Amino acid sequence: MIKLLSTDFDGTLVDHDATPRVQPALFETFQQLHERGVLWAVNTGRVLWHIEEGLRELQFPILPDFVLTSEREVFHRGPDGRWQDYGDWNARCAKEHDNLFAQASQLLTDIEDFLAKHTRAHPIYEGERLIGLAAESDDEMDAIVEFLARECKRVPGFQFMRNTIYVRFCHEAYSKGTALGELARLTGISRDEIFAAGDHYNDLPMLDGRHAKWVTCPGNAVEAVKKTVSQAGGYVANGVCSGGIVEALRHFRAGE
Ligand SMILES: [Mg+2]
Repeated sequence: MIKLLSTDFDGTLVDHDATPRVQPALFETFQQLHERGVLWAVNTGRVLWHIEEGLRELQFPILPDFVLTSEREVFHRGPDGRWQDYGDWNARCAKEHDNLFAQASQLLTDIEDFLAKHTRAHPIYEGERLIGLAAESDDEMDAIVEFLARECKRVPGFQFMRNTIYVRFCHEAYSKGTALGELARLTGISRDEIFAAGDHYNDLPMLDGRHAKWVTCPGNAVEAVKKTVSQAGGYVANGVCSGGIVEALRHFRAGE
């Protein structure tokens, strides 16, 4: 029986090209599951304020019980209703990233040079730290990813997450998958009771069957995601975004 939903947001629940962006059937399904005690974690690449804004803007009838942000941080609600760190995972995550970025200073300089000389991509900074980049197109990102895959090997543990035309640099031990694993540990919910849904490369770590048994992707997911979901014995939906997720929840008979 499914006790926890771990869903990506953009491209999985939300179709930014459609009207409405989230189908009413998804709201109804989530409401019903919520009434039956099924918990919901939004597992997103967005940072905390940005996912709060998204949930407000799209007027979800229920709020998630957890938000897993930036593809690696884990938050639950504090007594005042605000999001707060769940356990010490976020502190450990921040410390390991500080160490990793310190070791990667030459690599990051080389990435900056490559972007400036060979691409039209925009570097993304947090303070002075290069934390990722935005490409001009998917094709350009394909070429950048080839470069990164080759160069990032120079620094043990240094990895990157791709989501559409965006890349975020990260420690290989921190992903949507391991963050979900930590949430499972903290809540005492087992892998066999977890449903996970996503559409893009940064969702792969939560869709390979390791952290969730019931895995799915909407019909608009990239091929690599469809392949991973199939190999994990999951369900590749036909419907796009929220339509696909409602379809998958019916397929798995969630809430029964
Ligand atoms: Mg997505």
